[in-house]
Amino acid sequence: MTILVTGGAGYIGSHTCVELLNKGYDIIVADNFSNSHPESLKRAAELTGRLFRVVQLDLQDKCQVEELFSENEIESVIHFAAFKAVGESMKNPLKYYQNNLAGTMVLLEAMDRFNVKKLVFSSSATVYGKEADIPIAEKEEIGAANPYGRTKQMIEEMLNDLFQSDPKWSIAVLRYFNPIGAHKSGRIGEDPSGIPNNLLPYIAQVAIGRRDQLIIHGDDYETKDGTGIRDYIHVVDLAKGHLKALEKISYTPIYETYNLGTGKGYSVLEVVEAFQRACGRPIPYTIGTRRAGDSAVCYADATKAKNELNWAAAIEIDEMCEDIWRWQQQNPEGYASVEETAGVKEATGA
Ligand code: UDP
Repeated sequence: MTILVTGGAGYIGSHTCVELLNKGYDIIVADNFSNSHPESLKRAAELTGRLFRVVQLDLQDKCQVEELFSENEIESVIHFAAFKAVGESMKNPLKYYQNNLAGTMVLLEAMDRFNVKKLVFSSSATVYGKEADIPIAEKEEIGAANPYGRTKQMIEEMLNDLFQSDPKWSIAVLRYFNPIGAHKSGRIGEDPSGIPNNLLPYIAQVAIGRRDQLIIHGDDYETKDGTGIRDYIHVVDLAKGHLKALEKISYTPIYETYNLGTGKGYSVLEVVEAFQRACGRPIPYTIGTRRAGDSAVCYADATKAKNELNWAAAIEIDEMCEDIWRWQQQNPEGYASVEETAGVKEATGA
């Protein structure tokens, strides 16, 4: 049984590949490396001692996608490939609609044609509207506040329509909260290009000396210390959630949505403190103004995933920060320091 992993070279994708390989699944990774590095896959192969095929392709290339399905016995798909920067999506919405929606359409058409109807889809807690009750359960209304979130929301709706039209489809939609952390080995982790938008990569770059200080986006929210509260989940816990979802969709055809979060909220200042404990250095910060579109509090009600997938996040915030710090120290420039990428084909047996 081969699992196609689109966007498998990315942050969550590469950690999920490691978990799949460790569990004995055969995988094929399709990635255009637009915002990821083949080195992550080379390291996934090293960490697991497993070989797998890597195909460099863009999902919008219909010919290549169909070729992929015709040449391989694909059983199920985990679909990560997408652009994911909220701010960029507000500046350039068409780029997001084009890439995320068109790529997914081509993928789904090929799946349909080749009778591959099991899908785990990478969605996001950003699909929830601002009025959602906290903790947020799956039944809350969706109403994303930015183009990136709307691409996820539209794909969810497309998938639901597909399932209604043909119940042979089996689909798990996973709404991620805030993935952070890195593999225990320090070999794979989050490697944002340019200035990080997200809190943890930014803090890690301050700690390593790549940036002077963190700017906290507002301390006047109605929270315990005035800073924003989020549900930070370790990327390896998140990756394991995908394996549970894969088991679930393989069993019997379903269309279900699951929150993947810890169910606990931490403020920005609490995260800064946890990171300081992990790295043993002060993290200089200043208080800035609120970031447009940010909500005060967002954390998951993760009971559905616990009850139906038998999955729950296990790793606590201090360990998440320790793992990020290990990755950051071992790879101060992320994967960028690696010149030789041609070796990935050899290492992965592509
Ligand atoms: N945040 C911050 N400074 C930064 C980046 C983020 O204060 O440089 C805050 C942000 O306002 C939010 C929290 O950290 O309260 C998490 O932000 P992130 O962008 O990581 O996730 P999201 O807001 O998308 O949940």
